[in-house]
Amino acid sequence: MKPLIYNLDLPELEAICAELEQPRFRAGQIWRWLYVQRVTEWGAMRNIPGSLSTALADRFSLPAPEPLEIEGREDETRKLLISLADGECVETVMIPAVDCRTLCLSSQVGCRFHCTFCASGQDGFQRQLTSGEIVQQVILASRLWGDRPTHVVYMGVGEPFDNYEAVFKSVRTLNNADGLRIGARRITISTCGVVSGIERLAEESIQVELSVSLHASNGAVRTTLMPVNKTWPMDTLLDTCRAYTSRTRRIITFEYTLIRGVNDSEAHARELAARLKRLPCRVNLIPLSDVPEYAGKPSLPAAADLFIRTLAAHHINATLRASKGSRLRAACGQLRSGREEGRSRRSIIA
Ligand code: SF4
Repeated sequence: MKPLIYNLDLPELEAICAELEQPRFRAGQIWRWLYVQRVTEWGAMRNIPGSLSTALADRFSLPAPEPLEIEGREDETRKLLISLADGECVETVMIPAVDCRTLCLSSQVGCRFHCTFCASGQDGFQRQLTSGEIVQQVILASRLWGDRPTHVVYMGVGEPFDNYEAVFKSVRTLNNADGLRIGARRITISTCGVVSGIERLAEESIQVELSVSLHASNGAVRTTLMPVNKTWPMDTLLDTCRAYTSRTRRIITFEYTLIRGVNDSEAHARELAARLKRLPCRVNLIPLSDVPEYAGKPSLPAAADLFIRTLAAHHINATLRASKGSRLRAACGQLRSGREEGRSRRSIIA
């Protein structure tokens, strides 16, 4: 199996061109064919010598981006099932709005964090995605949209900080000013609370947005929902978040899924407000999505309303996010690697 050309960053592409005794500017030309014109055939790179494209084709793959399956209408949220070279699959979600196109990316095949309300970890962890496999999701969606996404969120299948190197390499490719040009403030990495990843992110030269899944107002409840709380307890996580905001001068978005009778009382809201006091942040309240393996129910509207008003009374900026894509099982926590489904679909296609 040849590696994807999208795995290379620009300096690596320059090094390959040097190895092939080509001038450095060829790397910039190839880069623009890949990320501005987004061609899917080596022969389409018209100003590249044939000998160079042949040499690159011998070493790297440039796959024609066709999803295995697309669910959803063109003008609405759409879920793509993408087949990888080794037969694994990942899901990616395209979320159009009036003035933006947001793409939700997967960073791993499966997930090892097993949050109880999330479908992504139910089938366990299969493997890491390469940076190229992450970038390929963007290329594919760009072709379907006819334009690149304006915003990218790493909120699909997988924990991005459990695949830090590949994820951040893909961030650099998406952000590159000569290619896809997706601004750092339009790129969000979402973590379930991997403290070591937050510490690394604080030191990066590209300052993307950080979103942290909290989903509870205290450690005891959080542990029942998110086993990661045993490794990095909530107090440690929030201390790290405070250090992150001081270091970067950026605010953090905390994700909080409202679950009826579990974490949605007025007392929970007061406790959350006390913990987030003086931490530069906003809170995104999310209605619980339906996941067959989890018996919890979404909060009643009155409870959600009281929760948000209680946070507001304590000067915590909170919004209740509309759940998009739940009809397609593409909302928060509903994505899967699609591995088994993909296999059966492929066998039908075959
Ligand atoms: S919420 Fe994120 S970290 Fe938790 S199981 Fe789902 S994909 Fe993994």
